[in-house]
This record gives sequence, structure tokens and C-alpha cells, in this order.
Amino acid sequence: MTTHPSESIASPSELLSTNFNEMSLSSEVLQAIAQMGFELPTPVQTEAIPVIMSGSDMIAMAQTGTGKTAAFGIPLAEKLDPKGNCVQALVLVPTRELALQVTREITAIGVVRGIRPAAVYGGASFTTQVSEVSSGAQVVVGTPGRVLDHMRRGTIKFSGVHKLVLDEADEMLSMGFEKEISEIIEGLPSKRQTLLFSATIPSDIQRLAQRYMGEPTVVSLSGDDVAAKEIEHYVYLVSGQGRTKDLLRVIGVERPDNAIVFCNTREETQTVARALKTAGFDAEWINSDLSQSERERVMSLMRAGNLKFLVATDVAARGIDISLLGHVINYTFPESLEVYIHRTGRTGRMGRRGAAISLIAPQDIGNLYYLRLTYKIRTIEKQLPDERQEQLAIEFTRFDALRGSFSRRTPDDFTKLARRVSQSIHGEAILAGLLAERFFANAEQTPLPRTAHWVDEVTAPKERFAQAREAAKVEQSEDDAARGRRRKRPVRVSGDDDVLTSAPKPRSLEAKAEPYPPPSVEAKAEPNPPPSVEAKAEPNPLPSVEAKAEPETKDAPQFEESSEFEGEDREVAGGSGEPEREIYIDAGRKDGVRISQLMKDLVDSTGLPRSSVGRVRMMGRATFIKVPLSAFDAVMAALGRIEVDGRKLRAEPAKE
Ligand code: AMP
Repeated sequence: MTTHPSESIASPSELLSTNFNEMSLSSEVLQAIAQMGFELPTPVQTEAIPVIMSGSDMIAMAQTGTGKTAAFGIPLAEKLDPKGNCVQALVLVPTRELALQVTREITAIGVVRGIRPAAVYGGASFTTQVSEVSSGAQVVVGTPGRVLDHMRRGTIKFSGVHKLVLDEADEMLSMGFEKEISEIIEGLPSKRQTLLFSATIPSDIQRLAQRYMGEPTVVSLSGDDVAAKEIEHYVYLVSGQGRTKDLLRVIGVERPDNAIVFCNTREETQTVARALKTAGFDAEWINSDLSQSERERVMSLMRAGNLKFLVATDVAARGIDISLLGHVINYTFPESLEVYIHRTGRTGRMGRRGAAISLIAPQDIGNLYYLRLTYKIRTIEKQLPDERQEQLAIEFTRFDALRGSFSRRTPDDFTKLARRVSQSIHGEAILAGLLAERFFANAEQTPLPRTAHWVDEVTAPKERFAQAREAAKVEQSEDDAARGRRRKRPVRVSGDDDVLTSAPKPRSLEAKAEPYPPPSVEAKAEPNPPPSVEAKAEPNPLPSVEAKAEPETKDAPQFEESSEFEGEDREVAGGSGEPEREIYIDAGRKDGVRISQLMKDLVDSTGLPRSSVGRVRMMGRATFIKVPLSAFDAVMAALGRIEVDGRKLRAEPAKE
């Protein structure tokens, strides 16, 4: 059925199909879908795939996270000719990130049938893009500016294009790409199928559709699904004064695993990220002031699960797909409702539960009311916590952080010591002292800990530290001290000792004797800061984790190197049977890299199973690691944070 958008809407039940097998797909495409782990089509796929397969033009109201890429990727893989040696489909997307994401997805869907996409976006080499396209890509996925450049220069031929996809069309128009899109469409063959995906259908999208589409079928997930049902919408009424402090209180209560914190201005992103870091959370900001490569770095940290809070403007967050994002926080409430829908659509994906939390100041109440009316979103009002709740929240957060850091078995001598401490009348004081030290020390780093630490607003009297130190000295055996001196040269994850080890950081007794500033935000500015990571370099350290852990505990990853390999290239086998990609690291044995330590760091900081970290080849000055494609982003992000002998490792995809 082909209808004009204003005339009728195809109802979900008309198009309902429960299974990919019922969609007239080839065995190759079905095989690829199965390899991707898709079991059932999502609602937008159920509705859109049959329409696209029928050849009709289509407008689909769907946003990122609904499975919309596969909704057009599957029919493209099915309908394009793998043997045809020209570009047959063009997918226009608003951002480079989305271009890469869509390219990845179409690659996976098309791999068995031999359909290959090429990504084309600004800021990358024209020549490389041209050669990628001319080496047999049937689909070009690109941003409007760069696609138009290629079209005008004639470097990519679009005369064979018979399928055009406008992905996130509302985003493209709101970014001001209308002229480019029009010029591109006018340069394409008029006999084509045009598919438009958009989270919202404002009037400029309707105009575009009227001009360039032939009576499209409109696939709508119904008003309710525009804002995914899996999302709970919470609002906290705030005064608007001291917003960052309110944000920290909200985070303390809600305790999100990870979140994008949206801000209306670039300045706010930096202020908020700073406040979060000062409070001990790992947070990074992105806005359009950051270079593309910096933005990529931060986003890949987030994607790999190595960043808890990404503080972003709407523009910078475009195209981010973080499938496991649990929370979206509106630090400032957006002025446009469409922006609210886009922001909150980053969570609650693919049937997972998500939460959208907004700080609502008096001036936002009108917009909130409008949101409820227009999108029928039921918001749940919550109160900022009182002091007692806040204190409890801090305690829970810290407890979680500790549990996360010390989940592995600790060497026996420390377990015995712990038992002694807990049974001693000094036990509480010792434990409190150690805990306070740990959290204060973390506050002084700009860390990327895997768990959050809430550190401000807690006071711990100096006497407690003195007591704790005395007790620690008594308990410290010579044996322990000797082991401390036997410590191996550490390979450490910069700023992230929590991630590296499963036991407390080594810290010198001298370092402990330094006076502590009050544990507040201001603490950073005061002299005599608490012991930082450098404290490790001081003499007579307490036994280090590395020393204590020899031989490793049963549960810890073990990557033994044999000394007979000294002076030669070495190999450690991993491998999971998945397609793999090789990573090049610009340091090797002569630079102090040790395979066992490197593998341990990677396992610790990515949380991936040991087998996923793959095969390592080490040379004098270079190391190559093969990892399964699915682990590639996570391993790259983790490698970017590893230091050997004070030097950061540089990792990049190995050349073929
Ligand atoms: P998208 O809306 O295209 O950004 O998709 C969001 C995520 O859902 C992507 O990681 C897809 O790989 C994944 N996805 C798409 N379709 C399905 C499906 N039918 N089953 C499971 N996951 C899917």
C-alpha cells in the first residue's frame, strides 16, 4: 500500500510479522542476522522491512535505538546486486559517528551476501574514500557535506543509485544540511526508492518528503513509541541556583551505572564534568570545541564501558550509540521537546530499561507541562534527598565501589590480617582510617575508576588517621616489608589503579603521615595534598599488590612468560574463533612491556574474558594484539590508558 503521508498511515497490525523468516529474506541475509544475534525483528523492523522490500518509498518515524539501521540495512543487503560494480545505494546521515556506526551494521548484515558499504565523511582523506568506494562498495554511507563534495568533483559516481536513505532526517535538517541534501537528491537518478527515517516529523521534513518522495508509506510506531516505553521519566524540582550540587545529590541517590549528562551550553559541559570529577566520579565532557579525534576518544571510552559520565551538548552527542546506557540526565532542560525526545532516546534501547532524569527549575515548568501534553509522557516527580538520605546514598555508593574493586580473592596473609583487624577493639578505627585514605586519595586523581567514589562532605578527624597509622605499623610484619621491596616494575593503567589491581594501592608510611586537608571540593587547592599515585615511588612501601600476588591467586588471570623467550618475539595464544582485528602498539619488550602484565591490565580494565584479549606478538619495539572484532573498541580504549615506565602506549589498528 502506498499512501501520501497526510492521507493514511500503515497500521502495525497490517504489517505485522513475527519473525525474520517470514520476511522473504535470502538464506545469506538470514545467516548474517543470526550471526549478529538478532532473534526477533524489532517493531520498526517488523513494519518497515516488508514496505521497503515491496519497493515503496517510506517515511519511518523511529529514533536511534529502535533497530532502525537494520530496518533499512536488511532490505539493502537483500535487494542490491553484490556483483554490480557501481554504487547502488546512498545513505545520508548527520554525523561521522553515525556514518561509521551504520557502516559497521551494514557490513555485518551484508557480509554473507557480499554487500559492502563504504563510509564517506568530512575530515578524512578523499583519496582513501574514493579507493574504498571503487574497490567494490555497493553502498555509500556519508554525511551530506562530504557526499556533495564527491558528487561535485565527480570522484564518486552516483548514477547507479536506485535506493536513497535519509537517516535521522530531522537531525540533518536541524544541523542546516537542507541545501546539501536537496542538491544531492537532485543529482541522483529520479527512478529510485527513497526512505526517510526520522524521530520527529516537523514541517520541514514533510516539505522534503513532498518534494522528493513519491507518495511514501508512513510507518509509525504510534505516538507512544516515539518516546520508548521502557524509559522512566523522573524530574527533580530544583531552584536553579547551585545546580551542580543538586546534580551530585541526584546522582548520589539514583546511582546510575553510566549516564550521558546533557547540557544546553558548551560552558556547562565543562563546569559539570569538573564538578563530577572533583566529587570523585569519572567524567569527560564533549562539545563542539573538542577536536574530532578527542571526541572519538571520549566516545570510545564510553562505548567500551570505561567511562561513567559523558557530559555533552546535543550537537556533540549526535550519533552516539551506547546500547547499554542506563540513564540520560538533563542537567539543563531542553527548550525544544524534540530535543528532549532525542536526548532521552539514548537510553531504554532494544527493550532495556532506561531512566531519564531532569533537573527542573521554575523556568522549565512550562516546557515540562508541554512535554507531558504533547508526547503523553508521564513524568514522576522526585524530591531531592535530605541530609540523612544523602549520607546513606554516599555510603551505598562507596560500598559498591569497594565491592567492585575487591571482588577477587585477596592473598591469604591479608585475609588473616583483615580477620585480626575486624576482631580487634581498634578494628573500627583502623578500617575507617583505611577507607578514608582510599577515598581521599582517589579524589586527588583525575581517575577513570570503574566504580564511582563519592568523596566530598565527609569529615574524618585527624586522630583517626594517627590511630590507623599506628595500628598499621604494629601489624606490618618485616616479611611484608621485604616483599614490598621485591615489587616488580609496575605497568599501570594511568590514573586508574583501581582498575589495575584488586587490592589497595601500595602507599608509604611516610606518605600516610602527611596531614590531610578536609575532604571537600576545595581540598585540591590546598597545600600538602594527600598521597597520590606518585606515593608509590617512595621508599619502604607497604607490600605492593604485585608482590603479594605472586604466585597469582587462582581466580586472577595468569599470563606466564617463559624466560626461554628472552630476546625473541613471543606469542601468547588467546582467540575466540570470531573474526579478528590486529592492533599495533608502539612499544615492545625493549621498552619494558611484559606480555603477562599487559594481558592482565587489559583483562582488568576491559572486564573482557581472558580469551577475548586474543593473541599477542611482541617485538623489541612493537607489540601486536589480535582481538575479536567485538572486543576491538574496548581493547583500543583500554590500551590508550596503559602506561609502561611512565610512557603512555600508543595503539592503532595494525596495517593489513
Ligand atoms: P539502531 O536503532 O539501528 O541504532 O540499533 C540499536 C542497536 O540494536 C544496534 O546495536 C543494533 O545492532 C541492535 N539491533 C538492531 N536490530 C536488532 C534486533 N532485531 N535484535 C537485537 N538487536 C538489534
